Amino acid sequence: MFDSVLRDWEGESLVIHRDVPSGAWILIAIHSTRLGPAAGGTRMKQYPAVEDALCDALRLSKGMTLKFAAPGLPYGGAKAVIMLPDGFEPGGRRELLRRYGEHVKALRGVFYTGPDFGTTPNDMDVIAETGSPYIFCRTPEAGGAGDPGPYTAFGVLTGMRAVCEHLHGDASLASRRVLVQGAGDVGGALIPLLVAEGAQVVFSEVDDRLIRYFRDEVGVEFVPAEDALGDECDILAPCALGGVLDETTIPRLRCAAVAGSANNQLGSREDAERLRARGILYAPDYIVNAGGAMAITSLEMRGGTPEGARDEIATYVRRALLRMFEVADREGITPDGAALRMAEEHLAGAVAA
Ligand code: NAD
Repeated sequence: MFDSVLRDWEGESLVIHRDVPSGAWILIAIHSTRLGPAAGGTRMKQYPAVEDALCDALRLSKGMTLKFAAPGLPYGGAKAVIMLPDGFEPGGRRELLRRYGEHVKALRGVFYTGPDFGTTPNDMDVIAETGSPYIFCRTPEAGGAGDPGPYTAFGVLTGMRAVCEHLHGDASLASRRVLVQGAGDVGGALIPLLVAEGAQVVFSEVDDRLIRYFRDEVGVEFVPAEDALGDECDILAPCALGGVLDETTIPRLRCAAVAGSANNQLGSREDAERLRARGILYAPDYIVNAGGAMAITSLEMRGGTPEGARDEIATYVRRALLRMFEVADREGITPDGAALRMAEEHLAGAVAA
């Protein structure tokens, strides 16, 4: 299993540490440094087995390479996973993160990291105590850029505008019905942006506190989670879980397009074809959700400003998506296929250079 997983991955290096004091496994998968230093978040959670943690790290690291390569940004892709042992004591978190920071620092700039599932900007402050200067998204109090979620949400908004521009020749979202699936960090920041654009926003959630807030206080229409995918809308924005688009769900969709932040929305690459066959425009997730990663590298590696970061997102995400849609139409392939091809071209160009 290990052999075939690594062969399919085609990445550059995999660093594995057993954190003896806690029993955690630390996996740092560096998929590509062809375009620049490899960047990717640190995911911290429990897994049924080390193989599952390994597969997650490898798959996500490749996604990061594509995220930077498709729009032509000068970074490589990586991902770290800290697999917590059963019965992990929260009191051991701080020291585990500090030991993890030492491993990041030992890579001497080949790998830069920030938050992902199970880690926060506060955790980045702790990791940076030993891992600086290779740690993104520390809290603003500690001199970092903080939570990337609002930038990711802005990138999703940009992606939706590109979808409308392609479909209708007009980027405006005014009066378009947009369903946001998941009103967490990204979806919750996206909803007010859409409201400000004059979109007809609906949302689904499973967290009662968020449902009450967005439905009762903000006044956004709520759709129960089980009905979300069948809602008749212009744009479906998966902002909760991956794997929402597959052979069972795609026949139920009644949207014109899909553009959301969730990672790995397609159950498999064939699902891109299934969407195309149904006439649903799919904006590849790793382009639509690239805003956070783009902003953080701009703010923390290139000394950019928040306004400059938003300008960069608006330019790159729009340009990349419109080009993908155009190539897909011209060549009769899916936007996902066009995105992969663009990423490969940029990677091949870097090798040739
Ligand atoms: P989050 O955990 O803050 O929000 C997800 C929300 O989805 C939660 O509020 C949860 O209650 C809700 N949810 C879970 N199951 C649901 C269901 N079946 N129906 C409706 N809602 C459901 O996560 P996030 O940071 O907002 O990220 C959302 C997605 O975007 C994830 O897939 C993440 O990997 C991806 N992403 C996030 C960022 C970022 O900057 N935060 C960047 C790139 C990609």
